[in-house]
Amino acid sequence: MRTYEINPAGVTDIGNVRPTNEDHLLATGDLFVVADGMGGQGRGEAASRLATETLQVGFESDPTGDGLLAAVGRANSAVINRADTDPELQGMGTTIAAVAAVVEQGQQKLAVVNVGDSRVYLLRAGSLERLSSDHSVVADLVRAGEISEAEAFSHPERHRLTQALGVEPVVEPFVAYSIPVAGDRLLLCSDGLFNELTAEQITGVLTSVGDPAEAASALVSLAKDHGGSDNITTMVLDIAELDIG
Ligand code: MN
Repeated sequence: MRTYEINPAGVTDIGNVRPTNEDHLLATGDLFVVADGMGGQGRGEAASRLATETLQVGFESDPTGDGLLAAVGRANSAVINRADTDPELQGMGTTIAAVAAVVEQGQQKLAVVNVGDSRVYLLRAGSLERLSSDHSVVADLVRAGEISEAEAFSHPERHRLTQALGVEPVVEPFVAYSIPVAGDRLLLCSDGLFNELTAEQITGVLTSVGDPAEAASALVSLAKDHGGSDNITTMVLDIAELDIG
Protein backbone atom coordinates (compact mmCIF):
# COMPACT_ATOMS: atom_id res chain seq x y z
CA MET A 1 0.00 0.00 0.00
CA ARG A 2 1.47 3.27 -1.11
CA THR A 3 1.65 6.02 1.52
CA TYR A 4 1.99 8.82 -1.03
CA GLU A 5 0.10 9.82 -4.13
CA ILE A 6 1.23 10.91 -7.57
CA ASN A 7 -0.68 13.66 -9.34
CA PRO A 8 0.27 13.51 -13.03
CA ALA A 9 -0.37 15.92 -15.88
CA GLY A 10 1.10 15.62 -19.37
CA VAL A 11 1.01 17.49 -22.65
CA THR A 12 2.38 16.62 -26.06
CA ASP A 13 2.63 19.23 -28.81
CA ILE A 14 3.73 19.10 -32.44
CA GLY A 15 5.80 22.29 -32.01
CA ASN A 16 6.18 25.03 -34.62
CA VAL A 17 8.05 23.30 -37.43
CA ARG A 18 7.63 19.52 -37.66
CA PRO A 19 4.91 18.08 -39.94
CA THR A 20 3.87 15.39 -37.43
CA ASN A 21 4.15 14.62 -33.73
CA GLU A 22 6.25 11.50 -33.20
CA ASP A 23 6.29 11.82 -29.38
CA HIS A 24 4.02 9.69 -27.22
CA LEU A 25 3.11 9.80 -23.55
CA LEU A 26 1.38 7.54 -21.06
CA ALA A 27 0.24 8.10 -17.48
CA THR A 28 -1.29 5.21 -15.53
CA GLY A 29 -1.59 4.75 -11.77
CA ASP A 30 1.98 3.55 -11.29
CA LEU A 31 3.76 4.06 -14.62
CA PHE A 32 4.58 7.29 -16.45
CA VAL A 33 6.26 7.33 -19.84
CA VAL A 34 7.52 9.74 -22.49
CA ALA A 35 8.83 8.39 -25.80
CA ASP A 36 10.24 10.32 -28.75
CA GLY A 37 9.98 8.41 -31.99
CA MET A 38 12.15 8.85 -35.05
CA GLY A 39 12.09 7.77 -38.66
CA GLY A 40 9.60 10.07 -40.41
CA GLN A 41 6.65 9.05 -42.62
CA GLY A 42 4.70 7.59 -39.71
CA ARG A 43 7.56 5.48 -38.41
CA GLY A 44 8.33 7.59 -35.39
CA GLU A 45 4.71 7.59 -34.19
CA ALA A 46 4.53 3.82 -34.64
CA ALA A 47 7.75 3.26 -32.70
CA SER A 48 6.98 5.55 -29.75
CA ARG A 49 3.45 4.17 -29.37
CA LEU A 50 4.48 0.51 -29.68
CA ALA A 51 7.37 0.94 -27.24
CA THR A 52 5.14 2.69 -24.69
CA GLU A 53 2.38 0.07 -24.95
CA THR A 54 4.86 -2.80 -24.70
CA LEU A 55 6.49 -1.19 -21.67
CA GLN A 56 3.10 -0.87 -19.99
CA VAL A 57 2.17 -4.53 -20.58
CA GLY A 58 5.58 -5.70 -19.39
CA PHE A 59 5.57 -3.57 -16.24
CA GLU A 60 2.02 -4.64 -15.35
CA SER A 61 3.11 -8.29 -15.51
CA ASP A 62 6.03 -7.60 -13.12
CA PRO A 63 5.58 -4.23 -11.38
CA THR A 64 9.09 -4.00 -9.93
CA GLY A 65 12.26 -2.17 -10.88
CA ASP A 66 13.63 -5.33 -12.49
CA GLY A 67 10.29 -5.80 -14.22
CA LEU A 68 10.51 -2.30 -15.63
CA LEU A 69 14.02 -2.97 -16.96
CA ALA A 70 12.87 -6.24 -18.52
CA ALA A 71 9.94 -4.39 -20.08
CA VAL A 72 12.35 -1.93 -21.73
CA GLY A 73 14.07 -4.92 -23.34
CA ARG A 74 10.71 -6.24 -24.53
CA ALA A 75 9.84 -2.82 -25.94
CA ASN A 76 13.12 -2.80 -27.85
CA SER A 77 12.42 -6.25 -29.30
CA ALA A 78 8.87 -5.26 -30.20
CA VAL A 79 10.03 -2.27 -32.23
CA ILE A 80 12.70 -4.35 -34.01
CA ASN A 81 10.25 -7.18 -34.76
CA ARG A 82 7.57 -4.83 -36.08
CA ALA A 83 10.06 -3.15 -38.42
CA ASP A 84 11.27 -6.57 -39.60
CA THR A 85 7.74 -7.61 -40.57
CA ASP A 86 6.64 -4.30 -42.12
CA PRO A 87 9.03 -2.85 -44.74
CA GLU A 88 7.27 0.53 -44.47
CA LEU A 89 8.41 0.77 -40.86
CA GLN A 90 12.06 -0.08 -41.40
CA GLY A 91 14.34 2.51 -39.85
CA MET A 92 12.00 3.43 -37.02
CA GLY A 93 13.23 3.88 -33.50
CA THR A 94 12.36 5.67 -30.30
CA THR A 95 13.73 6.98 -27.05
CA ILE A 96 11.98 6.14 -23.82
CA ALA A 97 11.96 7.66 -20.35
CA ALA A 98 9.84 6.17 -17.61
CA VAL A 99 9.08 6.58 -13.93
CA ALA A 100 7.42 3.72 -12.04
CA ALA A 101 6.21 3.54 -8.46
CA VAL A 102 7.57 0.31 -6.95
CA VAL A 103 8.09 -1.25 -3.53
CA GLU A 104 11.31 -3.18 -2.95
CA GLN A 105 12.21 -4.82 0.38
CA GLY A 106 9.45 -2.79 1.97
CA GLN A 107 10.86 0.49 0.66
CA GLN A 108 8.72 2.72 -1.53
CA LYS A 109 10.72 3.96 -4.50
CA LEU A 110 10.38 5.60 -7.85
CA ALA A 111 12.28 3.62 -10.49
CA VAL A 112 13.62 5.81 -13.30
CA VAL A 113 14.79 4.33 -16.60
CA ASN A 114 15.74 5.81 -19.91
CA VAL A 115 17.14 4.88 -23.30
CA GLY A 116 18.13 7.77 -25.57
CA ASP A 117 17.75 11.42 -24.63
CA SER A 118 14.27 11.80 -23.19
CA ARG A 119 14.75 12.98 -19.62
CA VAL A 120 13.50 12.79 -16.06
CA TYR A 121 14.14 15.68 -13.68
CA LEU A 122 13.44 16.05 -9.97
CA LEU A 123 12.55 19.41 -8.45
CA ARG A 124 13.07 19.19 -4.70
CA ALA A 125 13.33 22.15 -2.32
CA GLY A 126 13.54 24.51 -5.30
CA SER A 127 16.49 22.90 -7.03
CA LEU A 128 16.39 20.88 -10.24
CA GLU A 129 18.31 17.63 -10.52
CA ARG A 130 18.45 15.31 -13.50
CA LEU A 131 17.60 11.72 -12.57
CA SER A 132 18.04 10.24 -16.06
CA SER A 133 21.22 10.03 -18.14
CA ASP A 134 21.27 10.81 -21.86
CA HIS A 135 22.55 8.28 -24.37
CA SER A 136 23.91 10.83 -26.81
CA VAL A 137 27.19 11.89 -28.35
CA VAL A 138 27.24 15.21 -26.49
CA ALA A 139 26.35 13.56 -23.16
CA ASP A 140 29.41 11.32 -23.60
CA LEU A 141 31.53 14.41 -24.29
CA VAL A 142 30.18 16.17 -21.18
CA ARG A 143 30.84 13.08 -19.03
CA ALA A 144 34.39 12.90 -20.42
CA GLY A 145 34.91 16.55 -19.47
CA GLU A 146 35.56 17.54 -23.09
CA ILE A 147 32.70 20.04 -23.37
CA SER A 148 30.50 21.89 -20.85
CA GLU A 149 26.71 21.62 -20.46
CA ALA A 150 26.50 25.07 -22.05
CA GLU A 151 28.51 23.90 -25.05
CA ALA A 152 26.34 20.78 -25.33
CA PHE A 153 23.26 23.03 -25.56
CA SER A 154 24.42 24.46 -28.90
CA HIS A 155 26.57 21.57 -30.13
CA PRO A 156 25.91 20.66 -33.82
CA GLU A 157 25.73 16.94 -32.92
CA ARG A 158 23.36 17.36 -29.96
CA HIS A 159 20.65 15.28 -31.69
CA ARG A 160 22.88 12.22 -32.30
CA LEU A 161 21.96 9.34 -30.01
CA THR A 162 24.22 6.49 -28.94
CA GLN A 163 21.25 4.29 -27.97
CA ALA A 164 17.58 4.10 -28.92
CA LEU A 165 14.92 1.39 -28.92
CA GLY A 166 14.56 -0.46 -32.22
CA VAL A 167 18.17 -0.17 -33.36
CA GLU A 168 20.26 -2.92 -31.74
CA PRO A 169 19.01 -6.27 -30.37
CA VAL A 170 20.36 -5.49 -26.90
CA VAL A 171 19.88 -2.18 -25.08
CA GLU A 172 21.48 -1.06 -21.85
CA PRO A 173 18.93 1.21 -20.18
CA PHE A 174 20.08 3.71 -17.59
CA VAL A 175 18.35 3.05 -14.27
CA ALA A 176 18.17 5.00 -11.02
CA TYR A 177 15.94 5.08 -7.96
CA SER A 178 14.52 8.00 -6.05
CA ILE A 179 12.83 7.83 -2.65
CA PRO A 180 9.67 9.91 -3.02
CA VAL A 181 9.18 12.79 -0.60
CA ALA A 182 5.96 14.81 -0.32
CA GLY A 183 6.45 18.05 -2.22
CA ASP A 184 8.70 16.49 -4.85
CA ARG A 185 7.87 17.41 -8.43
CA LEU A 186 9.18 15.22 -11.25
CA LEU A 187 9.31 16.21 -14.90
CA LEU A 188 9.50 13.78 -17.80
CA CYS A 189 10.19 15.42 -21.15
CA SER A 190 11.35 14.95 -24.71
CA ASP A 191 14.34 16.82 -26.13
CA GLY A 192 12.01 19.34 -27.77
CA LEU A 193 11.78 20.92 -24.32
CA PHE A 194 15.36 21.04 -23.11
CA ASN A 195 16.88 21.87 -26.50
CA GLU A 196 14.87 25.12 -26.42
CA LEU A 197 15.04 25.99 -22.70
CA THR A 198 17.85 26.20 -20.17
CA ALA A 199 17.65 24.35 -16.86
CA GLU A 200 17.09 27.76 -15.22
CA GLN A 201 14.07 28.47 -17.43
CA ILE A 202 12.62 25.01 -16.72
CA THR A 203 13.19 25.49 -12.98
CA GLY A 204 11.53 28.90 -13.15
CA VAL A 205 8.30 27.45 -14.54
CA LEU A 206 8.28 24.42 -12.24
CA THR A 207 8.75 26.57 -9.13
CA SER A 208 6.28 29.31 -10.09
CA VAL A 209 3.31 27.38 -11.52
CA GLY A 210 1.56 25.34 -8.83
CA ASP A 211 -0.96 23.29 -10.79
CA PRO A 212 0.75 20.35 -12.58
CA ALA A 213 -1.39 20.62 -15.74
CA GLU A 214 -0.70 24.35 -15.97
CA ALA A 215 3.01 23.77 -15.37
CA ALA A 216 3.19 21.12 -18.12
CA SER A 217 1.40 23.48 -20.55
CA ALA A 218 3.47 26.51 -19.55
CA LEU A 219 6.69 24.60 -20.30
CA VAL A 220 5.40 23.66 -23.76
CA SER A 221 4.34 27.26 -24.47
CA LEU A 222 7.72 28.62 -23.41
CA ALA A 223 9.55 26.07 -25.59
CA LYS A 224 7.40 27.13 -28.54
CA ASP A 225 8.16 30.79 -27.81
CA HIS A 226 11.84 29.86 -27.98
CA GLY A 227 11.55 28.18 -31.38
CA GLY A 228 9.54 25.01 -30.99
CA SER A 229 11.75 23.37 -33.59
CA ASP A 230 10.82 19.83 -32.48
CA ASN A 231 7.85 18.02 -30.96
CA ILE A 232 7.56 18.88 -27.26
CA THR A 233 6.28 16.56 -24.54
CA THR A 234 6.16 17.34 -20.83
CA MET A 235 4.74 15.36 -17.94
CA VAL A 236 4.70 16.74 -14.40
CA LEU A 237 4.32 14.35 -11.47
CA ASP A 238 3.54 15.93 -8.10
CA ILE A 239 4.22 13.76 -5.06
CA ALA A 240 1.85 14.35 -2.12
CA GLU A 241 0.96 12.78 1.18
CA LEU A 242 -1.79 10.24 0.65
CA ASP A 243 -5.13 11.78 1.59
CA ILE A 244 -6.73 8.96 3.55
CA GLY A 245 -9.82 11.11 4.22
MN1 MN B 1 12.56 15.05 -30.21
